[in-house]
Amino acid sequence: MLSPALDLLRTTFGYDSFRGQQERIISHVTGGGDALVLMPTGGGKSLCYQLPAMLRPGLGIVISPLIALMHDQVTALEALGVRAGFVNSSISAAERAATERAALAGELDLLYLAPERLGMEWTQAFIDRLQVSVFAIDEAHCVSQWGHDFRPDYLRLSVLHDRWPGVPRIALTATATPATRREITERLALQQAEVFVSSFDRPNIRYRIEAKQQPMRQLLDLIRDEHPGDAGIVYCLSRNSVEKTADALAREGIPALPYHAGLPGAVRAANQNRFLREDGVVMVATIAFGMGIDKPDVRFVAHLDLPRSIEGYYQETGRAGRDGLPATAWMAYGLADVVQQRQLIDSSDGDDAHKRLLGRHLDSMLALCETLRCRRQVILDHFGEASQPCGNCDTCLAPPESWDGTVAAQKLLSTIVRLKRERNQQFGAGQLIDILHGRRTDRVAQWRHDELSTFGIGADLTDVQWRGVVRQLLASGLLAVSDRFGTLGPTESSWTVLRGEHEVWLRRQVAVAGSRRRRSASGEAARSRSAAAATLADDDRTLFEALRAWRAEVARAAGLPAYVVFPDATLVGIAQTRPGSLDALSEISGVGAKKLEQYGADVLDLVASAPRRE
Ligand code: ADP
Ligand code: ZN
Repeated sequence: MLSPALDLLRTTFGYDSFRGQQERIISHVTGGGDALVLMPTGGGKSLCYQLPAMLRPGLGIVISPLIALMHDQVTALEALGVRAGFVNSSISAAERAATERAALAGELDLLYLAPERLGMEWTQAFIDRLQVSVFAIDEAHCVSQWGHDFRPDYLRLSVLHDRWPGVPRIALTATATPATRREITERLALQQAEVFVSSFDRPNIRYRIEAKQQPMRQLLDLIRDEHPGDAGIVYCLSRNSVEKTADALAREGIPALPYHAGLPGAVRAANQNRFLREDGVVMVATIAFGMGIDKPDVRFVAHLDLPRSIEGYYQETGRAGRDGLPATAWMAYGLADVVQQRQLIDSSDGDDAHKRLLGRHLDSMLALCETLRCRRQVILDHFGEASQPCGNCDTCLAPPESWDGTVAAQKLLSTIVRLKRERNQQFGAGQLIDILHGRRTDRVAQWRHDELSTFGIGADLTDVQWRGVVRQLLASGLLAVSDRFGTLGPTESSWTVLRGEHEVWLRRQVAVAGSRRRRSASGEAARSRSAAAATLADDDRTLFEALRAWRAEVARAAGLPAYVVFPDATLVGIAQTRPGSLDALSEISGVGAKKLEQYGADVLDLVASAPRRE
């Protein structure tokens, strides 16, 4: 006999089996226990509270900071036949009254609440009158004052325990650091809770980091060659570069929209809506965008600027491929990024301890960029998780060569030291490389740098190679940015290199796996749409595209995000197995009872009229 939880998973959600620790968590909370759940983005946290809420008597109350997304979350549940509602500041008094009546009448399984509501005595008295099955605290790291997503209203959530001690609570987050974890436990009084820590690996995401040369060109290659027609997010550091990049992509015919805190709220909301609702929109954004965006079919996340920390980078890239299908995390980074980030830290307010902390975050990020090891291993290591080389990152797929850069490093460092000693001057990378190359530019002449003994001793390396040397020395702390003009100076460890006590091994610039290679391998096929379908045979891909077009119609007509109708993974399953009956269709992952009833006939028609396999 099926357990009630598994039965519900299959009939309502249409999934065959639980993932990872879901089953243990659900059974613990359904049994009345408190839980703290740490799971990466896309790990499947929602089911961990939705099922206990439905299995226990009464309704589950979900506290979420993401007011703008509550409506979508509730719509997605209703599309599955789950009775859900939400109360936040965006709805009218009449709508609120109707939802509250439904809750009191026992007509809801789940009620989403904005955290600030809980501070009101009125809301608390209302909850007193309900039978609550479970309290779920989503994005629980928002309670952490030192984290980047702090929400003061979250501090009030201790009321849940004080006022309704008999109701089990489940707190969930994708933020892994031990410090945040401790803070959540303390502030939410979860000392008695069982802690469920999942692996933070996201094996379907391919990590790639390449040197920044012509970033716009590189980004276009990525989108056109590997992700045509796919939804993606492009992260930029500044509002200005967000605008410029979105414009440039749009001019190239890519449906790209900007998102940053400087845009009017209505524009932000409209752009976010299009990104969620339409297929294949590219969002160009600052990191203001993304938390709680649970769009499962984001196929790529691109970084055009260096993130400040591995934590941030991992959270941002984690928004790709939540549906488990192949996805890409791609970054272009260059010397200017390193210099800029160091300057940002120097000029930031805050005491020295804080600056050192920021510096350490940046150092780890740079070490990831320049590593010769598997990228995923470096990332998971950072979160304290041991792993094997992954086979799905650029360094695994095309192991970078290393070369002995000791002499090159000595040439560069001695130029810097001589300038300082003999002339009390400091310069940035451009001038230093001109000196090493022996170029008689105007600036070289003006400063009489052609009289230096190191003038012209580095002509054996190209500019790109020299920039690689500078970047890597900066990344490994053998060189420092000295001031806000980006001039370079030695560090204490520089002297060990100059004295020949320290070898310097550098990463050779390699052409990066991906774009051009893939296009020539699979020819035209790769150019037709969507990486989600990349694994499909040609005939199946035709059916997949037909299903996608049908889904877009249905979604538009109903005002739903496309993925709420069916996620890509389900469409891929249908295209591959070609069900001939409703029964067969119901076997496919993501097809539950309600959707079978609503869309089954349409889907079977599409399958029946698809071209036969050869
Ligand atoms: P999180 O909140 O942890 O980021 P979600 O709860 O949004 O993740 O789940 C991510 C995706 O995985 C969703 O599309 C969800 O429907 C799907 N999913 C979750 N659990 C399962 C499962 N047991 N089987 C198949 N798909 C699942
Ligand atoms: Zn790897």
